[in-house]
Amino acid sequence: MKDEKEPAPFRFPLTDVKDYGEMDVKAQAPAEDFAGALSEGSLIGPVALRGVIRRVDDDAVFTGSVGGRWLFECSRCLTPIEGEWSETFEATVSIDGGPMDLTEEARQSIGLAQPMKMFCQPDCKGLCPTCRKNLNTTHCGHVPAVDAPDTVRPRFTERRKKG
Ligand SMILES: [Zn+2]
Ligand SMILES: [Zn+2]
Repeated sequence: MKDEKEPAPFRFPLTDVKDYGEMDVKAQAPAEDFAGALSEGSLIGPVALRGVIRRVDDDAVFTGSVGGRWLFECSRCLTPIEGEWSETFEATVSIDGGPMDLTEEARQSIGLAQPMKMFCQPDCKGLCPTCRKNLNTTHCGHVPAVDAPDTVRPRFTERRKKG
């Protein structure tokens, strides 16, 4: 169980911003800190935050990005796909309201970065509806059903070879 007072890597004191007008920000937080940020798939490795906090009148304004690596299943064939993600964001707090905690903004950015669908390749052939084999790697020989009037029929390329 985590202690509430455990230091949050994405929480920054604003004293330097107050004194010098701006402060570079670079921090990493473990993926476990963002459990539940994705509706599917999972984050792997640390989540990295970088940017700058600037004083703008009586506010502290962060501009920068958060990013890392994640693991999804292809929406068609369920093959695991690992990839990089990143999302830029901005946040503002009162300069006297420090420290500035960007954990929640980072979590929301992860959700925004998540694509609706993820494919292992743009023309992934998916799984055979009959035997569930991966059609990118296997030719199971099953003929796809073509008499389903209510569904959009995928375009099949004739690949009949001689012999
Ligand atoms: Zn796929
Ligand atoms: Zn099949």
